[in-house]
Amino acid sequence: MSASSDNLHPDTPIVVLSGPTASGKTTIVNRLMQESPVKLIKAISATTRPRRKGEVDGEDYYFLTQEEFEERQKNDEFLECEQVHGLGYWYGTLKSEVARAEQEGGWPFLEIDVQGALKLIEQFNNSKRFDQAITIFVRTTSEEEYEKRLRTRGTESEDVIQKRLNTIRLELALAGHYKHIIYNDDLDRAVAEIGTILKQREQELNAGRI
Ligand code: 5GP
Repeated sequence: MSASSDNLHPDTPIVVLSGPTASGKTTIVNRLMQESPVKLIKAISATTRPRRKGEVDGEDYYFLTQEEFEERQKNDEFLECEQVHGLGYWYGTLKSEVARAEQEGGWPFLEIDVQGALKLIEQFNNSKRFDQAITIFVRTTSEEEYEKRLRTRGTESEDVIQKRLNTIRLELALAGHYKHIIYNDDLDRAVAEIGTILKQREQELNAGRI
């Protein structure tokens, strides 16, 4: 987590993937990291959430104290940051992570929440980076499917399930802000569709069309 770079390379596409909880994002991200036709480098986010069992600092996240996080905010080190889930924990994409991906010759791959992604999309709208950004919203086909998935997990109370469903509905209404909406009812197809989007962009870049 070295010094941040404000001089992000303008030609490298940033790939932003998000979507409501229980959309199957994590599985898609893991599959893409293995199978993507272009080299993706996952930006490691910073967070104030406590480390879960098995998580490694600097691999899963940079786990920061509230003070450390605020300090980095003050220093303008984040491309975006958000208080996610209303739990009071902060999450953010460090500019230095985007720069790291580019230095390593890959496309920065951000898996972030919908609010953070919308902020970025707004930012991109005002810059050349918008043309380069590949924004992907992952969802299931029906709202009922979310309820089924949340209930199958069986870990949450009815109150929490209803709150989550509410958030899911609000987030689904924002899908139109993304360039691509991927329906994840068939995992293989969803991964293949994203792969095609990435490959196509690479071909456009190679052909000098962007
Ligand atoms: P978890 O705590 O379960 O690892 O992640 C909770 C949520 O935080 C997920 O929806 C994830 O997409 C989001 N998230 C992870 N990193 C970032 C980040 O850097 N920025 C934003 N805005 N959200 C993030």
